Amino acid sequence: MTELPSLFVSHGAPTLLTDAGPTRDFLADLGRSLPRPRAILCASAHWTTADPQLTGHPAPATIHDFYGFPDPLYQVEYPAPGDPDLAAEVAALLDGLAPAVDPGRGLDHGAWVPLKLMYPAADLPVVQLSVAPARDPAWHVELGRRLRPLRARGVLVVGSGSATHNLRDYARHPLDAPAQPYARAFADWLSDAVAAGDLDALTDVWARGPEARRNHPTPEHLIPLHVALGAAGGAPGRRLHDAYTYGVLSMAVYAWD
Ligand code: ZN
Repeated sequence: MTELPSLFVSHGAPTLLTDAGPTRDFLADLGRSLPRPRAILCASAHWTTADPQLTGHPAPATIHDFYGFPDPLYQVEYPAPGDPDLAAEVAALLDGLAPAVDPGRGLDHGAWVPLKLMYPAADLPVVQLSVAPARDPAWHVELGRRLRPLRARGVLVVGSGSATHNLRDYARHPLDAPAQPYARAFADWLSDAVAAGDLDALTDVWARGPEARRNHPTPEHLIPLHVALGAAGGAPGRRLHDAYTYGVLSMAVYAWD
């Protein structure tokens, strides 16, 4: 079996599902164009823990973990099956990092919003992996490295977060506002560092990325990128898609082949 790419997807607001826009179309095309995986492992910004956790439920619920959005979004279900065997396989790969399988947790919107666009039939098993905001980017790259063998076993490794994520500024701009210069500066720096495979820069992103803390007041939406980067062995990657919502949320999508 050929090795699947690892991906980093910016998931934006949950309204990505319902508002027309280029990222919605891009993700639908991406799901159709990739080789079909047997399962998906998604590291989501919306599941933060001290040590790595995995979803082990065979039929995970759809968690509507957002507030103040239009009612129809709370009715959306993503009834993909779980994959307890895959969760156990991943836990074994993470031996030594104190992994645990949570038998009850469902899928949060960091996972199901992009996956509903990529795989609307919800017929591929999904396991979620948490991220650990108290750990640094290098730790998440190492976590991702452990996942690399999965790519040759038909598992699509997806980090879901946001290339820029200043929620204080997001309400100040309309959906289709042009990118604010501080967001574009960081997102383009990130793209260049990924394209160069500059692991030193990417693991030192909080010091070296332009206005990194302004773009990420908290780290959890960026570190899924480090997981995907690690799953690629730190190799150069590509920004497949470049767009913005609300002027400050980069919707960039990356792949590492
Ligand atoms: Zn999010």
